[in-house]
Amino acid sequence: MANPGTTIEAIAGEFGPHLSQSTGMRLDSTLVPDKVVNTHCCFCGQQCGIKLLVKDEVVVGFEPWYDFPFNEGKLCPKGVKRYLQGAHPDRLLHAYQRDTNSPNGFRALGYDEAIARVASEIQRIQDAHGPHAMACLSGASLTTEKCYLMGKFARVCLKSSNIDYNGRLCMVSAGAANKKAFGVDRAANSWADILKTQLVWISGANIAECAPITTDYVWQARENGAKVIVVDPRITAIARTCDLFLPIKPGRDVALFNGILHLMIENNWLDHDFIAKHTVNFDEVAAGVKDCSPSRTAEITGIAERAIRTAAEWWGEAQSSFLLHARGIEHHTHGVQNCLGAINIVLASGRIGREFCGYATITGQANGQGGREHGQKCDQLPGWRDLGNPEHRAHIAKIWGVAEQDLPPPGVDAYEIFRKIDRNEIKGLLSICFNPLVSLPDNNFVRRMLQKLEFYVAIDFFMNETARYADIVLPGSLHEEDEGTVTTAEGRVIKINKAVECPGDAREDWRIIQDIAKSLNRPHGFTFDSPREILEELRVASRGGVADYSGITYERLEKEHGVFWPCYSEEHPGTPRLFEPGTWNPVANGNGPFYFPDGKARFNAITYQPPAEVTDAEYPYILTTGRVISHFLSGTQTRRIGPLVDQCPEPYIEVHPELAGKLGLATGDWATAESRRGTCTLPVRVVTTIRPDTIFIPYHWPGRKSVNQLTISAQDAISKIPEYKVCAVRLKKVPAPSAEELARIEPAARVEV
Ligand code: SF4
Repeated sequence: MANPGTTIEAIAGEFGPHLSQSTGMRLDSTLVPDKVVNTHCCFCGQQCGIKLLVKDEVVVGFEPWYDFPFNEGKLCPKGVKRYLQGAHPDRLLHAYQRDTNSPNGFRALGYDEAIARVASEIQRIQDAHGPHAMACLSGASLTTEKCYLMGKFARVCLKSSNIDYNGRLCMVSAGAANKKAFGVDRAANSWADILKTQLVWISGANIAECAPITTDYVWQARENGAKVIVVDPRITAIARTCDLFLPIKPGRDVALFNGILHLMIENNWLDHDFIAKHTVNFDEVAAGVKDCSPSRTAEITGIAERAIRTAAEWWGEAQSSFLLHARGIEHHTHGVQNCLGAINIVLASGRIGREFCGYATITGQANGQGGREHGQKCDQLPGWRDLGNPEHRAHIAKIWGVAEQDLPPPGVDAYEIFRKIDRNEIKGLLSICFNPLVSLPDNNFVRRMLQKLEFYVAIDFFMNETARYADIVLPGSLHEEDEGTVTTAEGRVIKINKAVECPGDAREDWRIIQDIAKSLNRPHGFTFDSPREILEELRVASRGGVADYSGITYERLEKEHGVFWPCYSEEHPGTPRLFEPGTWNPVANGNGPFYFPDGKARFNAITYQPPAEVTDAEYPYILTTGRVISHFLSGTQTRRIGPLVDQCPEPYIEVHPELAGKLGLATGDWATAESRRGTCTLPVRVVTTIRPDTIFIPYHWPGRKSVNQLTISAQDAISKIPEYKVCAVRLKKVPAPSAEELARIEPAARVEV
């Protein structure tokens, strides 16, 4: 049973989150750094370039990296303060073993002893229950080299089907839709094509908070004369500067995109040549949207008919356009359909694969793109190959030096792994850079499943909330303590550089994984001496696949400020803009720009279906969740950085004045939001920027502050993404908690470093 041996307060007292501040030598303006390291921000998928200043093996500050072309020195608040995660008092410097006799629930143990214990538990579980009884949960903040290694570790070392990753909670709906429509999953264009487009359409993307540098691109486009359309249930910061705002009811995006396509067809705002030459299936889709009249679209989406007509006209008549979307349309049980709806209006316009004509999802995690390409997904092999495809299996098995039949079959998604624990099919878990207790929906279920495990080992650099349930915690590496590559939201592969060594007993994650393999006496394929060696194997493994990295080297990445994949040889320039007429890809083999044998993109017929849980008399309001600018995902890092916590210390409930009036709520009051799965009591913010039928709670916090106590575990049938953006709740005013009660809700001490 993986249970914390003590109270959460006791564990938090020892392992945090404590708050770092800029003090000591970080405040010394005369300090001369020992070195300045060009690298990237550790947080979102924009992967802004940054120069880290290092003194005495501590990252003491940063400088803008003006030459890096994506952000040209600009950073958001998280990037500005990211240097405060290094030399942090909560940094794990040892391995830990759960110890119910210890006041803080854990005792330190030597690294080698910890690895031996992990190996012996894996062996015990696999001997007793078979190879698939061990599961792995990996992360999309890891470098691509580590993601590749994790996929290989699960299939070759553990011989288990059960590996998946936290990108499952992020971009998979867009990925699945891109594969269905284009045959490849990557932003169609680099962000440079936003700058001079005539129209930017942003659906379900709070870019000013979640992808701040993209805001700069959109505003530059506006300076150049572009119009901006924003579709969102909340008037987000980017919505406040747009030309047309469509306040959609959460979960109704298919209806909107179908309604827009209906008007495009009715008004002949179509690129007939492009549709005929480069696509298939338009007629079926056109027939499917016949009934999607503006009045019906307005009724379903809650958007005024006039606004729908204006949006269709602007989209229909534009000469160039760039459509962006993010989790707002992806975190749904119909997330793939939502994305296909967006793609349908792009294809009907013919505005893709040309200068200033583009389409992209905005990846969330640092390596949200690279992390979903090279084999840590449950059904995937490197180079975006398919674990269920005999030819692909044979190709990778040969490179890995194993028999094809020894590779396990495809496994299940990250949430299903927890359901398998419930069904006693999985007994042991290894997680790396994944904090499911905060980030998965209906997390009371997740907690019970962690408690049910026979053995759980967590690899991380801080004791995250899930790791508190671990039997063994292994100290992994921070972003600045290792080198490797990541792939940005644009599809640009870039180089992360090491600034400092791992402190104490901490190790680079790829070493830890290999040490476990060796301790299991299964070292075959796990003898790499550096990330560079891993990349060299990945280059070979990806060759001929859709995500072909074979021409990418560390030297090129440094010299060229990144290379866009596919990159077929060291002489190939890379591919900033996919789908340009005349481009070659290994699937179409000269037949056209899209990644299907005929080279044509696919229209996909989609029909509006309501969300998994709709409101009713008992639960009358829609809950939607999302991020704030000061925090990142499950908050393992940002809830430890003092200035970011100062900016946004607590979660809150956003309520429209109309609903607030009905419930007698004012800003500063406390309210309990309750769904069929749990309750969450938080302070209220009354705002005019949200729909009156919807409330919003940001999701970066654990325990009793976690909105994921309320969210529903219903998933998209294809992508398996959970429906974070819609569930039904009720809301009631409650007395403010006492100071004592407040202290019990995730205590955080302020520590200066
Ligand atoms: S969080 Fe994202 S936008 Fe902000 S600095 Fe880092 S990479 Fe750039």
